[in-house]
Amino acid sequence: MQQTISAEEVKTVQTEHFLCPNCGGNLRYDIKRQLYCCESCGSPDEIIPLHEGIREYPLDGYHSREAQNVAFEGASCVFCQNCGAQILFGQYDTATVCPMCGSTQVDVKKQESGIPPEGIVPFRLDQKEAQEKFHAWIKKRWFAPNSLKKTYQEGRLTGLYIPFWTYDAKADGWFTGRGGRTRTYRDKDGHTHTTTDWYPVRGSVGQFFNDLQVCASEKSNSKYLNDVLPYDTVNDIKPYSPQYISGFQAEKYAWRGDACFRLAERMIKDALEAQARDSILAMGYDQAQVLEVQFSCSNVTYKHVLLPLWSAVFSHKGKLYQYLINGETGKVSGGRPYSAPKIVAAVLAAIAVLAGLYFLIESTGAYAAEYHPPAAQSQAQQVDLAEPGSPAEEILSRVSLSPLWDETKADV
Ligand SMILES: [Zn+2]
Ligand SMILES: [Zn+2]
Repeated sequence: MQQTISAEEVKTVQTEHFLCPNCGGNLRYDIKRQLYCCESCGSPDEIIPLHEGIREYPLDGYHSREAQNVAFEGASCVFCQNCGAQILFGQYDTATVCPMCGSTQVDVKKQESGIPPEGIVPFRLDQKEAQEKFHAWIKKRWFAPNSLKKTYQEGRLTGLYIPFWTYDAKADGWFTGRGGRTRTYRDKDGHTHTTTDWYPVRGSVGQFFNDLQVCASEKSNSKYLNDVLPYDTVNDIKPYSPQYISGFQAEKYAWRGDACFRLAERMIKDALEAQARDSILAMGYDQAQVLEVQFSCSNVTYKHVLLPLWSAVFSHKGKLYQYLINGETGKVSGGRPYSAPKIVAAVLAAIAVLAGLYFLIESTGAYAAEYHPPAAQSQAQQVDLAEPGSPAEEILSRVSLSPLWDETKADV
């Protein structure tokens, strides 16, 4: 049975108590100290992992594990009606707003079976440091309204663990392609020509891949989420314990580990193609073209990991925007509003400069200076459009300003 939590009803859902043996206070993971300790007296407590070490499991046996357990033992779960994310939270926390989309349409839900996290990269940046990273980021944004730069602090930062699968695999295969040799020659008239002669080539490729990361979030296609990757899942990972998510939230994976391996295979194919290109060049050719790569994977193993993300929703003139900060590296991405007066000012300044140039050229020419604003205006527009990567092009490419994440509209 589902029960709806209203926004006003900020009620603590108590599922399990992790209490301080010293004073009875709540225990939480302290990012600054990188310790699990008491909120009240600060005394540290031991983190007890679900099991020792971090294991990787054969992908062949994926199916049987998927049905075995509840993924987040001792955590509560809510389901977002707006974006479909399943959010898990610790023993004395609650989620009334979906951290993925800002919607308050969240329902308490009974957890389904799933694969428990094997490892976790704990937060390195605390909330204050994450906020500073965002401040530095928004300061550098052109056309962001000044009011936003001043009021960004209003955004509520939520510490969120995002589900990922990592894969190890041995990949072996072969490729066919063409190697090109460029030569120059002189024709009978003495003109110099350059031409490339192509030769068919083939060879073998093979690599071992360690920890290919595939995001299993409901929002795995989000541009913003992809912009804050990667994480160091090789060196910075700890055996999972529910104690790490105490005081934070975690998303249950929306995409299964066997399905996500298809995306890892795409990464493997790209890497093998690059390897094939390198080996054609190593044969002594100046240019390389890879026509086909065939490969198969063996010894494929996977594990489920949780990776830290700071997420916030802020509103500006009635619209909601979201930004994300990598909780390990501090990389920032997000949607932000544009200031219409600033864009207009920039366009007018560009027109003024071009009109000025036009006037200068005309007046120094043989004909009498005559001001032609329409011509200057169309010229200004052409220049703005033609320059790739210019702020004007960026604005023009956005037919509508995207609110939350990519296209998703929040229901708040
Ligand atoms: Zn205490
Ligand atoms: Zn949502």
